Amino acid sequence: MSGILDQTLHYFNKAADVMGLSDHVREMLASPYKSITVQLPIIMDDGEIKVFTGFRVQHNRKRGPMKGGLRYHPTVDLDHCKSLSSLMTWKTALIDIPFGGAKGGINCDPKVISDAELERVTRKFINAIADDIGPLKDIPAPDVNTNAQVMAWIMDEYSKSAGYAPGVVTGKPLDLHGSAGREAATGRGVVFVCESLLEDWDQPFEDTSFVIQGFGNVGHWAANILYDLNAKVVAVSDISGGLYCEDGLDIPALYEFVGEGNLLSDYPDYDKITNDQLLALKCDILIPAAMGRAIHDDNVGALQCKAIVEAANSPVTPEADAVCFENGITVIPDILANAGGVTVSYFEWTQNIQQFQWSEVDINTRLKLKMRKGYATVAKVAKKHNVDMRTAAFIVSIGRVGKATVLSGI
Ligand code: NAD
Repeated sequence: MSGILDQTLHYFNKAADVMGLSDHVREMLASPYKSITVQLPIIMDDGEIKVFTGFRVQHNRKRGPMKGGLRYHPTVDLDHCKSLSSLMTWKTALIDIPFGGAKGGINCDPKVISDAELERVTRKFINAIADDIGPLKDIPAPDVNTNAQVMAWIMDEYSKSAGYAPGVVTGKPLDLHGSAGREAATGRGVVFVCESLLEDWDQPFEDTSFVIQGFGNVGHWAANILYDLNAKVVAVSDISGGLYCEDGLDIPALYEFVGEGNLLSDYPDYDKITNDQLLALKCDILIPAAMGRAIHDDNVGALQCKAIVEAANSPVTPEADAVCFENGITVIPDILANAGGVTVSYFEWTQNIQQFQWSEVDINTRLKLKMRKGYATVAKVAKKHNVDMRTAAFIVSIGRVGKATVLSGI
């Protein structure tokens, strides 16, 4: 399977086969509602003009305003946005929040352009798509290489023409209508899903070993929360490699080390391992929290975990997914496992349009309810149809989006 678009379609069609969906319904649900490409010429700091391209793909709007991140990366293109926007449709439907799916980005590299250039290209992009976004239309959020500051510029630019509108974007700074608990939300959601899985296994956190690939926002929060629950996080990694300790790593110490700008491979303690060795470690739960397609044909045979909880988007290729199923490895799919982020984004949007603030305890309690209900629904459907958790998740999502489509009229 060549790319990420094929990958999402493959999972969609697998579930659609079980549901017996006709070709025209498949086409309507799988293809995007609207794809936008805009030219973004800006004056660079040296006076030269450079032309970037901005994309926004709005996949489905039948269950609510469309929701999804903005990615700033040289490889961003329409196909990537199409695939990721459909994943957002299935994710928001599965976790049952009143949104559709979207995704977008700009083909720029924030590592080589200045902050001032980044602000100019962001504002230009928002001006270009202002008629298509809004608190009740399409609500962007951070993704790869975009952060709370970029979201603040988006809110400001959009508000110039539409009136003060914090609900146009989520993932904003706390001092500018952001939400408590948003930063930790995806990692925390991953842990709530692990909690449900362990209940199915009748196994406490204290007796469970975890391996986590990626020690960024999602990976380090998941590791920290698991550490606080007395689980044994035996290995973690970043792009430089990983660290292993059979008795469990001191996660707060590693977090402090990385927070000082260091790479994990430079940590003075513990056994050093490569990312390939990390994936092959014996453990109860493996959490890929780095990049897509980390587990594929060539390395899936080496896995020794009992379950994979997909914190990253699309970390397991369809070919590897099939091997996991044959080998009895449970895979909890991304559209469930990493839905904590968009769930708290929904809480942020809700607070913005209500002009009211919730406490972090309130947010985390509501997040737990959503994640655990999502898991329970998927587990029930998997049992009913005798399918894997990913196919079950797609069946639930497609069913919800399909019903909303029929009810609202074609
Ligand atoms: P991040 O940039 O904060 O962290 C990524 C981590 O992965 C870093 O530690 C980096 O060193 C490591 N990494 C990168 N390439 C690697 C490689 N080749 N091998 C091993 N490690 C590597 O990113 P994040 O926000 O933590 O997101 C991680 C994943 O989760 C992404 O797939 C993202 O799309 C997905 N995700 C994130 C959120 C969120 O709220 N941040 C929500 C849903 C899904």
